[in-house]
Amino acid sequence: MEYIDYEAPKTLSEALNLMASKGDRARAIAGGTDILVQLRGGRRSIDVLVDVKEIPELNELSYSPQNGLVLGAAVPCYRIYQDQAVASAYPGLIDAASLIGGIQIQGRASIGGNLCNSAPSGDSIPPVIVLGGICNIAGPNGTRQVPAEDFCTGPGRNVLQDGEILVSVAIPAPVAHSGANYLRFIPRNEMDIAVVGVGTSVVLDDSGQNFVSARIALASVAPTPVLAKDAGDSLAGKPVSEANIQEASEKAMADAKPISDMRGTIRQRTHLVGVFTRRTLNNAIERARGG
Ligand SMILES: Cc1cc2nc3c(=O)[nH]c(=O)nc-3n(C[C@H](O)[C@H](O)[C@H](O)COP(=O)(O)OP(=O)(O)OC[C@H]3O[C@@H](n4cnc5c(N)ncnc54)[C@H](O)[C@@H]3O)c2cc1C
Repeated sequence: MEYIDYEAPKTLSEALNLMASKGDRARAIAGGTDILVQLRGGRRSIDVLVDVKEIPELNELSYSPQNGLVLGAAVPCYRIYQDQAVASAYPGLIDAASLIGGIQIQGRASIGGNLCNSAPSGDSIPPVIVLGGICNIAGPNGTRQVPAEDFCTGPGRNVLQDGEILVSVAIPAPVAHSGANYLRFIPRNEMDIAVVGVGTSVVLDDSGQNFVSARIALASVAPTPVLAKDAGDSLAGKPVSEANIQEASEKAMADAKPISDMRGTIRQRTHLVGVFTRRTLNNAIERARGG
């Protein structure tokens, strides 16, 4: 590993100044579970790591039923699932936070880091997308907001410009009769990259028998995690039925653009998108009905 400076600013403005002074030779570090592996493996060369874990805005974890969730970009997974209020309001997010790596990784890894690493297989990205997450970004030119579905732009790439930091992700408060779920397929129980990941969220009407709206997002089947918009929209206003869920899963399969690699073939991945879309929709419906 080459020599790298390490800075741990205590304020956002200090961090932004550091990032700005080094341009593309500076990288943020949150949990370090991606960046340290990449630096050690020689996949990145930089001059300075800017540790963002001591910045208050990036450590915020606040939830209210009125305003929803503000999830600081450096908050590690374990803090999310150990927070009772957050865990009961966002079980779909907890599905992902509690399966990233293993218990040791969850002690460090953040959802912000998962987003900024921008792997097509990033497990937390589909749930953040279907829950309507908005990325709050700060940089030398001020702040901006980007919907989570527009954040990743390619494998390992995203909308962040040199000098910008992801500060937090804002997730709206769950509405009545809503539910979400994330599941992934991996060939072993943990510590693997998703062959396919599917996150879904639904809002049902008061009777619990009809969809008001639905969102479906896919991981590991395109250069970025993707919102399968047509698939989700196809359920709006329709009765909750096997036929309608099947139709949405077929639309999601059509939205998937997987490649064949050592983890799975195009055929297997496309099939799995169908299976996991149906499964996560049924789980989300059960949660929306209070199950
Ligand atoms: C053993 C092991 C198992 C793993 N298992 C999984 C898994 O099951 N599922 C999965 O999705 N991932 C997995 N990962 C990958 C990794 O743990 C996750 O992507 C994690 O969420 C990254 O978070 P972090 O805080 O550690 O990010 P870091 O490594 O600190 O950062 C990741 C990237 O984001 C940038 N960055 C971080 N924070 C910010 C910020 N606030 N603003 C701008 N840029 C930022 C960094 O510069 C870096 O490029 C695993 C990794 C290991 C080592």
